[in-house]
Amino acid sequence: MAILVTGGAGYIGSHTVLYLKEQGEDVIVLDDLSKGHHDALMGTGLYRGTVGDKKLLDSIFTNHRIDAVIHFAASSLVGESVNDPLTFYENNVTETCCLLQKMNEHHVKHIVFSSTAAVYGEPKFIPIQEKDETMPANPYGETKHAVEKMLHWSDQAYGIKSISLRYFNAAGADPLGRIGEDHKPESHLIPIVLEVALGQREFVKIFGNDYNTDDGTCVRDYIHVMDLAQAHYLAVQKLKKTNESTIYNLGNGQGFSVKQVVDACRNVTGLFIGSKPAPRRGGDPATLIASSEKARDELDWLPQYPELETMVSHAWNWHRHHKNGFNR
Ligand code: UDP
Repeated sequence: MAILVTGGAGYIGSHTVLYLKEQGEDVIVLDDLSKGHHDALMGTGLYRGTVGDKKLLDSIFTNHRIDAVIHFAASSLVGESVNDPLTFYENNVTETCCLLQKMNEHHVKHIVFSSTAAVYGEPKFIPIQEKDETMPANPYGETKHAVEKMLHWSDQAYGIKSISLRYFNAAGADPLGRIGEDHKPESHLIPIVLEVALGQREFVKIFGNDYNTDDGTCVRDYIHVMDLAQAHYLAVQKLKKTNESTIYNLGNGQGFSVKQVVDACRNVTGLFIGSKPAPRRGGDPATLIASSEKARDELDWLPQYPELETMVSHAWNWHRHHKNGFNR
């Protein structure tokens, strides 16, 4: 039996594929390589195409004995989603609908879904629990929330069981440095700060210094990408064992401000990293910190790399040896 990983050539997807293979799982990837990288797959079998390609899905489900799907493939940049929401609805909602239809037709009944803290919007309580109100503040979060609801109704109607994983801020890279983060253009904080350290950017813009936080900059809960990978593996096992749908937050339960992240990058690299204040970025809540007690209790999930400096040092190891990412 094999696990189909959609979006398996992307950042979190490729680290999950690596982790699954290290656990002895048989893995097949579906990715259109619009954002992902073939080299990130390290030889894993790839079907190149989109999740909305029903013929391709038919052939994958016919050619392989798939017993679970892990679904990462999606558009994920918040800013892009505000400018072009309909593309996000198409890529994230319509295409997931095709995937679920084909899973149902081919009797594949387990799916782990890549959701996000963005479903909560501006939180009322910190740390955020899964039962807290969901009120997405941008189209990206809306589309992920819509899929969570689609999964709920697909369970009721077709018995498709799902686990939605709401990630907080993914960070770091494979501890052995084989793969890492490579977005073009880069929009995430840690890789941007490391680009400054490498001399590829002049300075990092700090988006907003007047938030209601200790130092005025936004606070986020950073979680190592390999710890996210571990949670996906455990979620597949849980579905097989209990056959029950549920939702988990994934974070470390600890917040770091943008300034603290820049300082951690200075400590790890030992290099000067310039920063300048810049206006707030639209749709950024002041503080996002997860309660991940539920995942720890029910999945036996135990993050292996909870320290911010460890995440930064794994990211730094990848970036300084791959200055152009996967492009050699
Ligand atoms: N951020 C920043 N400068 C940058 C990129 C990000 O100040 O060049 C801030 C951003 O406003 C947010 C935090 O860093 O408060 C984390 O942003 P990122 O894009 O990495 O992840 P997100 O929280 O959007 O998922």
